[in-house]
Amino acid sequence: MYQVDVDKEKCTGCEECIGACPSSVFELEDGKSEPVEMDECIGCETCVEVCPEEAITVTEI
Ligand code: SF4
Ligand code: SF4
Repeated sequence: MYQVDVDKEKCTGCEECIGACPSSVFELEDGKSEPVEMDECIGCETCVEVCPEEAITVTEI
């Protein structure tokens, strides 16, 4: 399993992670990305790579 965290202070709501995640983990909530389907994460770290604000961390748990 993976823990996906979005730093809301850094997130600008650009939606890059939402479009890039193969498992549809993220949704936009109040203008920020929220990892609503964290159980679906496969740990590919595509979201980490595409986020221009370096707001996402993925940790194996
Ligand atoms: S690591 Fe991959 S599967 Fe997990 S949230 Fe990021 S893009 Fe989605
Ligand atoms: S890619 Fe980064 S800045 Fe853009 S919505 Fe996702 S977490 Fe926020």
